[in-house]
Amino acid sequence: MKASVFYGKNDIRFEEVDKPDISDKEILIQMKACGLCGTDIHKITEELVPAGSVLGHEYAGEVVAVGKEVSEFRPGDRVTGGIHVPCFTCEQCSRGHYTLCPEFKKTNIHPGGFAEYIKLPEEHVKHLLYKIPDGMSYSKASLAEPVACCIHGQKAVGIHAGDRVLVMGAGPIGLIHSQLLKNKLVKEVVITDVSDHRLNHAHEFGADVTINAAEKNLETYLEEQNHPGFNVIIIAAGVSALLPQAMNVLKRGGTVICFSPFTMKPSVEIDASMFFHDEKSIVGTYSVSPYEFEEAILAIQKGVINTEALITHVMPLSNLGKAIELTQEKTENVLKIVLKNE
Ligand SMILES: [Zn+2]
Ligand SMILES: [Zn+2]
Repeated sequence: MKASVFYGKNDIRFEEVDKPDISDKEILIQMKACGLCGTDIHKITEELVPAGSVLGHEYAGEVVAVGKEVSEFRPGDRVTGGIHVPCFTCEQCSRGHYTLCPEFKKTNIHPGGFAEYIKLPEEHVKHLLYKIPDGMSYSKASLAEPVACCIHGQKAVGIHAGDRVLVMGAGPIGLIHSQLLKNKLVKEVVITDVSDHRLNHAHEFGADVTINAAEKNLETYLEEQNHPGFNVIIIAAGVSALLPQAMNVLKRGGTVICFSPFTMKPSVEIDASMFFHDEKSIVGTYSVSPYEFEEAILAIQKGVINTEALITHVMPLSNLGKAIELTQEKTENVLKIVLKNE
């Protein structure tokens, strides 16, 4: 079989790799659609994974073989799922931090999503594989993972109907957040970004107000509007300097959700008096647990997520290198790229 294999940031090869064998409790799927995630782009452009790696985790496909002991799925089933599975019994799992489980990152799909066939190990088959509803395309179903990640993130804080929410970053993740928020009947969703291309799309995804942060200072804007500040702020852009700014425009009692790795310049300065006197908080959230997938599939099925507008590019699996290039060209109107294997 073939896979798009990473060798360097400008060296992705569509080459022959071993087709995985499955044991009695495993499943082999033919990959049909796999979304290109911001974390894949980051790992490739910053060369953070070893040469020979196959990335991709937002997969959807058709079951082509099942082990003797698999009874829940059969060949022909259309499925989607996630990449890491918690143990459900350790200290972190017992406290609801499934994504911090020591077993979580040890579990994986093989060789990765950007391959013609993918092996799903026993724990994935048991806990992290879902049938795609009739009528839902593979491309749409491949969005289940990023949507589930956003649902996971929003669970970290109580979002109330009537809240004013700020989303910093109008990439696919910020736009998914925006739509999930709209469905919670928040009073207002404001989205900031530095790209007009992205902001132009944001109204299609539930944004009430968009602000180009390169052109307009957020604090000045709020002052001009006599705006009371935000109950919840979601940072969906990898710029750590956004955190102190978010704390400044957060309402008393509000919460900032950090939905970004902030690996570049991770140290920032925050006025610490805001925690006690103003009851402001900051929460971090990482990845997704098996408990968010069904909700994500429903959100896609019921049209909460505007998948048509979100997927701007569909390309063949062999074009991963080209897809990465596209994301680096600021002129191109890229939101979500889905790689297809047909
Ligand atoms: Zn992802
Ligand atoms: Zn665990």
